[in-house]
Amino acid sequence: MRETNCIFCKIIAGEIPSNTIYEDGEFKVILDASPATKGHALILPKNHCADIYEIEEDVAARVMKLAKKLACHMTETLQCDGFNLVQNNHEIAGQTVFHFHMHLIPRYKNAKNNDILKWTHENFTPEEMKEICDSLKQ
Ligand code: 5GP
Ligand code: ZN
Repeated sequence: MRETNCIFCKIIAGEIPSNTIYEDGEFKVILDASPATKGHALILPKNHCADIYEIEEDVAARVMKLAKKLACHMTETLQCDGFNLVQNNHEIAGQTVFHFHMHLIPRYKNAKNNDILKWTHENFTPEEMKEICDSLKQ
């Protein structure tokens, strides 16, 4: 259930030190080593899986339950003003560590830089939007 050469598997095994804020049988939650904000943390499932495509549905559901619990706890403790949950999949989407993780990012009104997750917008015609919508309907 671990992958050789995976840095998060090594952190989970305790071979690489981390600032662990929560641990149970299934998850380890650590502070991000290069935090976007104060308290930026990562939920790591202990069983290695690369991304949203690989993670088991039940595990993914429990990640979200834990994210909800920690977001509330961290908001109260850090007195932050908002919160982002971010989860990147594949290099094009910004994933740099290929062991599934959910970013927990506290947000502060008085932070030096609040543009950490700003994106630009693309325009689609109403026809294109309908085509996209139709292609995605299940
Ligand atoms: P991604 O870009 O894959 O969504 O996020 C990977 C995150 O892992 C980055 O925010 C990065 O700072 C963090 N990270 C990478 N290596 C380590 C490490 O060895 N320890 C910790 N605590 N965080 C790490
Ligand atoms: Zn791993």
